[in-house]
Amino acid sequence: DLARLQQASAVEWRIGPHGRMRVPAVIFADEDLVRQMDDKVYEQITHVAALPGIVQAAYAMPDAHWGYGFPIGGVAAFDADEGGVVSAGGVGFDISCGVRTLHTGLTVADIAPVKQKLADRLFASIPAGVGSSGKLRLNSVDMDAMLRGGACWAVERGYGSPADLERIEERGCVAGAAPEHVSEAAKRRQRDELGTLGSGNHYLELQEVTQIYDVPAADRFRLRVGELVVSIHCGSRGLGHQIGTEFLKAMVLAAPAHGIDLPDRELACAPIDSALGQSYLGAMRAATNCALANREVITHLVRQVFADVVPDSHLALVYDVSHNTCKQESYTVDGKAKRLYVHRKGATRAFGPGHPGLPPELRDIGQPVIVGGSMGTASYILVGTEASHQLAFSSACHGAGRAMSRHQASRTWHGRALVDELAAQGVLIRSPSSRGVAEEAPGAYKDVRAVVDAADRAGLARKVARLRPLVCIKG
Ligand code: 5GP
Ligand code: MN
Ligand code: MN
Repeated sequence: DLARLQQASAVEWRIGPHGRMRVPAVIFADEDLVRQMDDKVYEQITHVAALPGIVQAAYAMPDAHWGYGFPIGGVAAFDADEGGVVSAGGVGFDISCGVRTLHTGLTVADIAPVKQKLADRLFASIPAGVGSSGKLRLNSVDMDAMLRGGACWAVERGYGSPADLERIEERGCVAGAAPEHVSEAAKRRQRDELGTLGSGNHYLELQEVTQIYDVPAADRFRLRVGELVVSIHCGSRGLGHQIGTEFLKAMVLAAPAHGIDLPDRELACAPIDSALGQSYLGAMRAATNCALANREVITHLVRQVFADVVPDSHLALVYDVSHNTCKQESYTVDGKAKRLYVHRKGATRAFGPGHPGLPPELRDIGQPVIVGGSMGTASYILVGTEASHQLAFSSACHGAGRAMSRHQASRTWHGRALVDELAAQGVLIRSPSSRGVAEEAPGAYKDVRAVVDAADRAGLARKVARLRPLVCIKG
């Protein structure tokens, strides 16, 4: 229902404050994408705009779709000095879920003779699927060290290499993690899950660079047409999910005592300055480190397979970026410098050139923004822009976004038929779950090209390269 939206440009729609909204809501999308967006996005983003201490506006990225409380593709920043809140639902259950992409220096022709072998060996080496366990077992001392150290911990233990850390947000380790605020139940779930992909939407993909849109940025990211890259999408597994579940409950219960009248129970939140808000932030950062360690361990396993199958390969990180986070960042709002708690749920940080949070080697060009598509369509690499700093707190889309529910997808497609169909198109799928594959059918997602074009036109991030899937290990 477009009547409720004010069109600000071809790719920006505003909802003026009404009812309990404290700030406007803004949706970045072209008209087709807005028409396809389910009504829930409108409703949810309006509710987010009513939360205490929200700054500037509540935002929805072009890939936005219905989520728990906050839409997936939602961005909102809160000011602690104005009674701002932190929300477990604003981060999402898979805390610090994210993607890293590695370049290989190999061409697609180099690996053509061993493509099947790579697919089989990667599938055998990287545990995937619901509740899958890995080879690492963590005792309670190791667990806390991992939760504090993230990818740095993994590298110290011989997984991955020190050079990787330069290309990970926060250099591989988020400060302020508090393992003491992570429950035993959450830690128990994680004991043997490090180095595993998880289920469903998580993937390990071999991709071919098929198009370059921005030559200088692509050069800096070492992306060349015809070359092979590897992308790894996963998060904090059972640990993050457990933390999200527990804190959501605690935040709902504590809301009245905090004087918060929730517009929707699913938007459970706590004041940033409250004890509960602080313990959530500590636990959430521990889960972030868990996700960073997880992607680092998986990278190690991927390199072992490549070393065996394609001896001359050298896999190096382009970047690792999380898309379910709450981070403290600096912005100027109405002429005033502020430290804000930026929630990005199914949204990617997209720092522009010059941002001090970028690794020195990339500071003049901007942050790589990694956008998944589906196992049968394109994925994209974008780069953060200066404009995005002012547009939506340096944020961009994280994927194509679902166009239909998992349930609906599983009734529309058949897993095994889909695998055959994709194989005929040159995409090898390996997955423990045929139903999982059906739920993840390319047709269940929006048109990634339209999403990425809308992000580019809105100035959230600029297109750099397009990728095509060759092999996809699905959870
Ligand atoms: P999410 O983090 O919201 O679960 O997923 C992020 C995005 O990943 C989705 O919006 C979707 O576009 C993309 N995606 C899901 N499955 C795959 C896959 O198998 N391969 C690629 N390249 N992208 C995928
Ligand atoms: Mn996830
Ligand atoms: Mn994700």
